[in-house]
Amino acid sequence: MGIITLLSLENLNKCYINGEFIDSLNGQKIEVFNPANGEVIGTVPDMGKAETEQAISKANLAFKGWSKLTANIRAEFLIKWHDLIIENIDELANILTLEQGKPLAQSKGEILNGVAFIKWFAEEGKRTYGDIVPSNHNGQRIHIIKQPIGVSAAITPWNFPSSMITRKASAAMAAGCTIVLKPSELTPFSALALAKLADEAGIPKGVFNIITGDAKEIGEELTGNDIIRKLSFTGSTAIGKKLYQQSANSIKKLSLELGGNAPFIIFDDANLNDAVDNAMASKFRNSGQTCICANRIFVQSGIYDEFMELFTSKVKALPMGNGFDTGVEQGPMINEQAASNTADKVKKAIEQGAELIIGGQKSEHGDCFYEPTILANVNDKMDIVNAEIFGPVAPIIKFDSEDEVIEKANDTEYGLASYIFTNDLGRSIRVSEALEYGMVGVNNGMLSTEQAPFGGIKQSGIGREGSKYGLDDYLEIKYISIGGI
Ligand code: ADP
Repeated sequence: MGIITLLSLENLNKCYINGEFIDSLNGQKIEVFNPANGEVIGTVPDMGKAETEQAISKANLAFKGWSKLTANIRAEFLIKWHDLIIENIDELANILTLEQGKPLAQSKGEILNGVAFIKWFAEEGKRTYGDIVPSNHNGQRIHIIKQPIGVSAAITPWNFPSSMITRKASAAMAAGCTIVLKPSELTPFSALALAKLADEAGIPKGVFNIITGDAKEIGEELTGNDIIRKLSFTGSTAIGKKLYQQSANSIKKLSLELGGNAPFIIFDDANLNDAVDNAMASKFRNSGQTCICANRIFVQSGIYDEFMELFTSKVKALPMGNGFDTGVEQGPMINEQAASNTADKVKKAIEQGAELIIGGQKSEHGDCFYEPTILANVNDKMDIVNAEIFGPVAPIIKFDSEDEVIEKANDTEYGLASYIFTNDLGRSIRVSEALEYGMVGVNNGMLSTEQAPFGGIKQSGIGREGSKYGLDDYLEIKYISIGGI
């Protein structure tokens, strides 16, 4: 055994509640696996309702002090946390790849992207400006102020086990809220490592709490408990709908970042190399397990053959393997079930008439690996393009006109990310305005950045993360009418 450091897994097997690292009340644990080889890498506490209740009550006590601090002081804590994450990025990236599988370079990229939100919100928290509005009466003043909403909850997924946490927690904490967060049971170590560093940064006890355990039971308490005033969730639309319903009784404010069915549209006039490179990154990053990844690649007929040739040659060359191995760009999927689900979807698409160009099977690298796959001759009636694929499968749909592709792109209940590739300025504006999505990448396949509002419309969700709008999700507006002046 190597030297045990602050972020060794042996040191990350407890939850973080009220500034203490603790076990579950019944001593039960959940095993965590490495998807690259199926080995158990460690255990974390299997907590439930009682521990969640306790964390909420401690977060409520902590709220009284934290919400009263100036934004400047809260920012100092957040910046310390940020700096510690950067200092420990190699260990954090190792943990992330170990439990999630993505290539090490992508893990580092995720941590850097996520930590940028902490710095952003630390600064943005200083700018929760209100308004003074002219009144109809001389003796009256209308003041509008923004105040932290209260104790917040967050439930985060396994596909970005680090950045989904920093993005939510830093917005909440900068706004003056305290937070109880449940990470995915598949990737809890990245969360507990962030808790260790928050503790090291001296963030006051009870401000940031992490509970691992039974998702349903913890979720019921987080949504059912009146103290929680806001829930931020990233995950599937099915669970999002459930949490929305569960939150109705206590009228909580919600941010939901749910599934997507992103159209990736390449027009004849696009720069082909750029379009292909971005399609590769958008589709195959994190083995296609991102909510904003290209789910339907629409290619205009005039550029179709050239696109297919170049795209196929690049997919063929994608190095697959254990995320720790040098040069690997395609790791395992999160678990065997995910790989099997992907296999089923591809099989069904082929039965429905899609043509398999490359891939289409589980890989020899291990049970959780699925080969990067291209399907041609896809049409909008096939199941594969009418649900989120969440795997390394690129369905290609040929189209002729701008109007046709806009109609098809919008024909989905989802509305998260969309992409267009064109060198026609007018078209880029026309199409981006016509797309019914929360985000449009024009000649750009990478959307997540701390300065911009990330989020969807329709059944892709509610609310925005990042940007000045991301802070509003953790603030309430108060109108103060001052008379008798
Ligand atoms: P995915 O398909 O990406 O795993 P999920 O929506 O199942 O998406 O998971 C996202 C997060 O939601 C995870 O933290 C998971 O533990 C949590 N989760 C799953 N089921 C429930 C539930 N019934 N109540 C609350 N949280 C849940």
